[in-house]
Amino acid sequence: MNIHEYQAKAVLKSYGAPVANGAPVLSIDEVEKAVDQLPGPLWVVKSQIHAGGRGKGKFVESAAGEKGGVRLAFSKEEAISHAKAMFGNHLVTAQTNKDGKQVNRLYIEDGADISRELYLSVLIDRATGKPAFVASTEGGMDIEEVAHSTPEKILTLPIDPIAGVTDKDSEQLCDALKLEGDARADGMKLFPTLYKAFTEKDMSMLEINPLIVMEDGHLRVLDAKVSFDGNALFRHPDIVELRDKTEEDEKEIEASEWDLAYIALDGTIGCMVNGAGLAMATMDIIKLYGEEPANFCDVGGGANKEKVAAAFKIIMKDPNVKGILVNIFGGIMKCDVIAEGVIAAVKETNLGVPLVVRLEGTNVDEGKSIIKNSGLNVIPADDLDDAAKKITEAIKG
Ligand code: GDP
Ligand code: MG
Repeated sequence: MNIHEYQAKAVLKSYGAPVANGAPVLSIDEVEKAVDQLPGPLWVVKSQIHAGGRGKGKFVESAAGEKGGVRLAFSKEEAISHAKAMFGNHLVTAQTNKDGKQVNRLYIEDGADISRELYLSVLIDRATGKPAFVASTEGGMDIEEVAHSTPEKILTLPIDPIAGVTDKDSEQLCDALKLEGDARADGMKLFPTLYKAFTEKDMSMLEINPLIVMEDGHLRVLDAKVSFDGNALFRHPDIVELRDKTEEDEKEIEASEWDLAYIALDGTIGCMVNGAGLAMATMDIIKLYGEEPANFCDVGGGANKEKVAAAFKIIMKDPNVKGILVNIFGGIMKCDVIAEGVIAAVKETNLGVPLVVRLEGTNVDEGKSIIKNSGLNVIPADDLDDAAKKITEAIKG
C-alpha cells in the first residue's frame, strides 16, 4: 500500500526525522488557510499524487511551458495562485500514464534553501535478504538513471537485522553522502531513526529523494515516498487509515474486496489463474505466442462460484481486454466449480470477446462437460500451450 508524501512525512516526523512544517489541503477552500499557517518567505506548493517526478510533470489542462506539480512561491498570493492552478487538474509525470492523475490533495510546505540534494532509501535487498540503505550524492534526479550511468556513485549498505544500524553503518552512509559538520551529526541520528520507522511500520520501501543539506548546514527530508507491506497491514490500523482509494485502480480495489489478487498490465489478454506460479507461466506463454497480458487475476486456492464470477467481471471491466484465457489447475479448487463460475459470469456479462478455458486437475471431466454443455461460445483447451495458441489466434479474429 502506498501513501501520499504529506502522510509519509507525518509518519517520519513522529519518529523524529527532520521534516519541514507544512499543511495538507484536501479541498480548494482550505488553500488560503494553509498558506497563512506558514511564515514564508518561501512556500512550496506540492501536488499529492501516488507518482513521482511531479516537479518535472505537466498539467494536461495548463498551457505549454507552465510549471510542474511542485512549485516555489515567494508570496502568499503566488502560493494561492499555484495551488488553484493545480487543484482538480491532471498531472502527467514520467510515472503516470498519458492521461495523468487528478490532483485532489496538495501539500503546502515551508520552503528550504537547498545547498545539496542527496538520495537515500531503505528497502529490502533481495540479494542479502536484509533491509538495506541505498545512498547517493546524486539526489533529486532519477536514481535508475544514476544506477545505469554512474553506478559507482551509489552505495548499497545491508543492515544486520539483529544489530540494527550501527555507528559504523551510519559513518559509512555519512561518508557516501559526503556529510560534514552539522549535516554529519544529523545523519548519525537520522539513519537509525529511518530504520526504526521502516521496520516498526513494516514498510517495504522508504525513499527520500531528495534528502537535502540546507544552506544552514542541516539535513532535511524534502520528499518522501513510502510503501507498506500489504501482508502486515493488519497490525497497523493507523497506516490503513491513510489509504487513499482514489489513487488506486478501481478494479484492484474491487478485487481486494473479494480477496482476489488482480494486477493490471498493458496488453490485451485477460488472464484468470490460480496461484502466482501459474500466473507467471501463463503470462510467459502468452508472450511466447506474440501477445501481451492485459492483467491477471489470481483466484487463489479455495474460490467458490461467486468469487470466480467476480474475478471474471473484474477482468472484463478493462476496455483493453480483447480476449480472456482461463487457466486453472484444480488442486484444492475443483474444476466443476470453476466452470460453473465462468459460465455464470459469461451469462451475466454478455461476453463480447473470445474466451479460452483450460482446466486440469480435480473433477476436470465434470468441468469440461459443464462448459461443453453450456451452449455458450467458449473455446476449450487441453494444455497450456494449446490454450495460449488458441487465445492468441482468437483475438486476431
Ligand atoms: P518529485 O518531483 O515528485 O520527486 O517532487 P520533490 O518533492 O522531490 O520536488 C522536486 C524538486 O523541487 C526537488 O528536487 C527540489 O529541487 C524542488 N523543491 C522541493 N521543495 C523545495 C524547497 O523547499 N526549496 C527549494 N528551493 N526547492 C524545493
Ligand atoms: Mg522527489
